[in-house]
Amino acid sequence: MAVGIVHLVGAGPGDPKLITVRGLEALKKADVVIHDRLANPKLLEHAKERAQFIYCGKEASNHALSQDEINAAILKHALEGKRVVRLKGGDPYVFGRGGEEAEACVEAGVPFEIIPGITSGIAAPAYAGIPVTHRNFSSSFAVVTGHACEGNEGIHVDWARISTAVETIVFYMGVRNLPLITKKLLENGRDKNTPVALVRWGTCAVQQTLVGTLDTIVEKVREAKFTSPAIIIVGETVRLHEKLSWYENKPLFGKRVAVLHRGQQAAVEQIEELAGQPVEILLVDTVPASEDTLDTVINQLETSDRMVFSSEEGVGAFFRRIREMGEDIRSFRGGFYAVGRDASEALLNKGLFVETITDNRLNGIWAGEKIIVESEEQGKGSLVHHIREQGAEVIGWTASKKVLSEKGFAILENMIEEQALDYIAFTCPADVHAFVSLPLFKDQGRNLERLKTLCFDEETAALLHQKGVDVDYIVKDGTAVLYSSRLSVIA
Ligand code: SAH
Repeated sequence: MAVGIVHLVGAGPGDPKLITVRGLEALKKADVVIHDRLANPKLLEHAKERAQFIYCGKEASNHALSQDEINAAILKHALEGKRVVRLKGGDPYVFGRGGEEAEACVEAGVPFEIIPGITSGIAAPAYAGIPVTHRNFSSSFAVVTGHACEGNEGIHVDWARISTAVETIVFYMGVRNLPLITKKLLENGRDKNTPVALVRWGTCAVQQTLVGTLDTIVEKVREAKFTSPAIIIVGETVRLHEKLSWYENKPLFGKRVAVLHRGQQAAVEQIEELAGQPVEILLVDTVPASEDTLDTVINQLETSDRMVFSSEEGVGAFFRRIREMGEDIRSFRGGFYAVGRDASEALLNKGLFVETITDNRLNGIWAGEKIIVESEEQGKGSLVHHIREQGAEVIGWTASKKVLSEKGFAILENMIEEQALDYIAFTCPADVHAFVSLPLFKDQGRNLERLKTLCFDEETAALLHQKGVDVDYIVKDGTAVLYSSRLSVIA
């Protein structure tokens, strides 16, 4: 059997978009992904459907797998001919033990490649407004492990030389050892007023920055109960933190934003773009419609003139049921029509000729015909209603229907009670209707005072306002527009 290949991939510091193009390519092709705690698990969504995932921990002193076990796992799968991605936080060769893994590959005769990543020691300060070098303050920086302490054999830091040899020192894995680090730096010639910053979970929506001096930082960290993972930056450029802060100034930074129904990728991305943390709480669920109606439709294929689809889901459900019933689509002699690109593509993929239609092209042309229409909306103002008004006989059916999820209601109410949310995002009018039917909402808006609202279009915002809920933000193209003092009028 041919030997596979190992890619040691830097996942970047945390923000899942900070992986390299090449890293992402390797991840998409991998058969096995061996990942650790600091590599953002969101990245795993890019892997193949059938890829195997192996988690190897790496929380200080709580390793799910030892380094020997990790090396053995990498080699085993590669020797079985698989493409192995070893996904590591930051850069694989910066305190990542990537060197040891590459050596293991060489010794076993397994081919490997290194795909560097953006290391947290540079990225976390950058997201906190701290450049590691600066023309006026710092012409050099060093990356140093903060893990060296008594009893940690094999790791030695030459404090006497490093303390004053460079302007900026960046420590990894140093939070627990901060008292020792500051002591050693002070003993070896660094001024006690030297600014120090800690950046925890840098580049992530939960990023926290704490600033002090060599003299004060230990106390501040203790008070704030600041824990790892964090990068420690020592040096004058830390003074730029306030001036150059940008990520932490984003409108939704650190805010938890509830998204109320599934598949809201665009909204989720916009929230992330504004540095918020989307929390999916599904109030509205989509469930497949009953098979009975579809069976009735299929039984009338022979006598129908045209078929209209308005969703990809509809096309899928229809052909699945045809097959299950042992029917043949050729019993239908009429034409296929699609509303929108998704439905059109799905029909084309079935090898069918399809015409795209819009409401205003319908005017009377199908009068007297029998038309099968798949559409989510069946009521007044809907496509079904419109075609019927043109004088056609319409057999309407729905591939899926929206239902309120009781579980979602309970979770949302709980989170509101616990004050675990900062914003609620309303992506469409259905979200508003669902929200205002919450018992908690009816209960005089209890606990809703501090909760802010976010809409993505004027129509939804207007509806929300009409229901008596203030609209705080409307998000357009990734920029949040603040509606002054809890918006009260929408024209
Ligand atoms: N190879 C990684 C470092 C692994 S060592 C890299 O290049 O970034 C683990 C240490 O990295 C943690 O203890 C912490 O000091 C630092 N670290 C990793 N991700 C971080 C993040 N998002 N924010 C702050 N520090 C981080």
